Amino acid sequence: MLRHAPDLSPRRPALQLPATHWLALRETLAHCAGRVPLYRGVVGPDRDADAEPAAREALARFLVLSKDALRKAFPHRLVPDGESLAAALKDGRILFVGTSGTTGERVQVLWDQIWWDTQERDGFALHPISRRHTQAPDFRQAVLTTPVCSGNLCHVGALPMQERIDGNVLFLNQAQDPALWSEKDVMRMADELEAFAPHSLEADPAYLAHFSVRLSRLGREPFAPGFIDLSYEFPSRRHVAAIAKVFRAPILDAYGSTECGFPFMECEHGRYHHNSAWSHAELLPLDHLDGLRGVARLLITTLRNPWLNLVRFDTGDLVREAQDACACGRDDGLVLASLEGRVSDLVRATDGRLVTVRSVDRALADVDGLLHWRLRQHGATSFELDLLGDGSRNVAAEHVAAMLTGLLGVAPRARVVSNLPVEASGKYRLCAALHEDLAGVARA
Ligand SMILES: [Zn+2]
Repeated sequence: MLRHAPDLSPRRPALQLPATHWLALRETLAHCAGRVPLYRGVVGPDRDADAEPAAREALARFLVLSKDALRKAFPHRLVPDGESLAAALKDGRILFVGTSGTTGERVQVLWDQIWWDTQERDGFALHPISRRHTQAPDFRQAVLTTPVCSGNLCHVGALPMQERIDGNVLFLNQAQDPALWSEKDVMRMADELEAFAPHSLEADPAYLAHFSVRLSRLGREPFAPGFIDLSYEFPSRRHVAAIAKVFRAPILDAYGSTECGFPFMECEHGRYHHNSAWSHAELLPLDHLDGLRGVARLLITTLRNPWLNLVRFDTGDLVREAQDACACGRDDGLVLASLEGRVSDLVRATDGRLVTVRSVDRALADVDGLLHWRLRQHGATSFELDLLGDGSRNVAAEHVAAMLTGLLGVAPRARVVSNLPVEASGKYRLCAALHEDLAGVARA
């Protein structure tokens, strides 16, 4: 999430995807329609027609795949005909991997490590800095996120460093809430980072922002990795500011998930480019909803994954497509101007407009001394804003609340708090409307 100057480049030409992308999509859809029980009854693509029109026509015949439908299909209706799930699990070709969260939110997938590693490497290749570091023969990565089942591992409790290293990846965190980190925990993680000397630090931005503030209070300068990539949840600009104050490393934003892999990577100009060899991305525009002009729901179809065949998977995330060419020159896939936050985290202004997490975050981007915030809507004109300072100066609650008046139509009731707890999912939910199902409105 790097800031960038206003873009004066020419209007973006029509989207061009390489022929190999359309061939892979046609192949995937034929495989899904023909062999994956979840899609039984859907007519696959015409193999005699050109790949692009055949793939487009067939794709439109698939329903949008919700998280709930994926949860119900797992595992047997995802297993292609002719494959043995038991044999694949036994010989280690696949694993069951769950997203973090409570039972109701948790989704499991069939995890193919070879597919994951290959598409991740190509995702990192979209930015010159991450490309250079991830191609080092001895590439090492440290991870700072929730210890509750991140990827395919759980690291809750006190485990020695060696037991938290999986191949070339070191998992730093062992506490379920960063507020629970003792001084000793913070120093341990700083020591381990130094000893492991990773090329990259992959982090949940909220966790890394908390870590950065604690390091700063202790006067400890951390090891500088080759780059930091933000993942796992929406990166607030206040989180990025806290990280940038302490870490002398480029901060890059990556968009991915356990379900979809690594579909987008930020480039050196702050835009997000599509990792188009490994997924097909569709945008469902929400221009018809007041406040959401230019914003779209993101659907992902995974490509070339022998085991996990997600077609038109509803990521639950909102994005904004770039309207002009990116100054980096990449033009072989979709380009996003911004990630706007989750559809379930929309709020509604007093005049009825829908407001994304990113809009609220942008309004609070320059509040010095603010580490973290949380907005809750309880009624049409009733908002509560909790503010957590970084300790460097006082945060004036009413002054900050007034910064949201233009956006929400009313100033929230605001207070400074000493802690903002992490959700059961291991993530922080920045915005939520508790009085109305706005995700339902956006999906209708
Ligand atoms: Zn670019």
